[in-house]
Amino acid sequence: PPMIAVHNMSKLYGEFVALDRLNFDVQRGEKIVVLGPSGSGKSTLIRTFNRIEPHDSGSIIIDGKIINEKTSLTELRCMVGMVFQNYNLFPHLSVLDNCTLAPQLVRNVARKDAQEMAHNFLKQVGIPEQAHKYPIQLSGGQQQRVAIARALCMQPEVMLFDEPTAALDPEAITGVVSIMDTLAEQGITTLCVTHEMAFSRRIADKIVFMDQGRILEITPPEQFFTAP
Ligand code: ADP
Ligand code: ADP
Repeated sequence: PPMIAVHNMSKLYGEFVALDRLNFDVQRGEKIVVLGPSGSGKSTLIRTFNRIEPHDSGSIIIDGKIINEKTSLTELRCMVGMVFQNYNLFPHLSVLDNCTLAPQLVRNVARKDAQEMAHNFLKQVGIPEQAHKYPIQLSGGQQQRVAIARALCMQPEVMLFDEPTAALDPEAITGVVSIMDTLAEQGITTLCVTHEMAFSRRIADKIVFMDQGRILEITPPEQFFTAP
């Protein structure tokens, strides 16, 4: 069965149809890039998966579980991690505490275990030395890596990325690409909203192309980028 199954799913803001009867599946470990013009519904789409934006009709099934108003947000936040464009790190907490807070509070992980896990993920994303610094002491690329490590500390099945490279230099972007490859190898399913064509081409297994709240096509990147 697919990791994510979306069936006739719609989302309204008042009268405005932001997502219009979407249908698609995502397989476990797939990397999906969502492309499309500004305002086409890309952010809204990925935010329906963790109910930051609850959908209004149709269905979303993640790992066999129906996602709706009865879904425990705690459970959902463990299953679906999110990395925001502006990182959303807690400025008054160290990198380590940023990573260990939610696992302790939400998953009842013991402090020592949460710290060990955080150190492992900080190593995986390439910043093992920054654990005791504060976000403001880090570069944009390093903050982005902390945001990824923090999300991974919840051990999610699905990772959502909203414009993860927008504020990064080319070297940092390469870093994010290799992190995403590693996540896919570990079976984590990735959905990523971006405007960066080169980045999309590099990471996507499939491109979901949106316009005006609809999916116009779902294609492998080689096809998408060479189509007439
Ligand atoms: P994209 O990510 O493709 O730029 P969004 O998903 O952010 O698009 O937005 C899709 C459409 O929904 C846009 O027209 C936007 O103005 C509208 N929209 C987004 N969020 C809200 C909101 N909270 N209230 C009303 N309209 C919204
Ligand atoms: P993005 O495309 O990255 O989501 P936006 O600038 O479109 O960035 O949206 C930033 C925030 O403003 C989002 O939280 C979105 O929900 C909200 N928003 C976007 N469009 C509208 C709108 N027309 N009315 C109210 N809120 C909106």
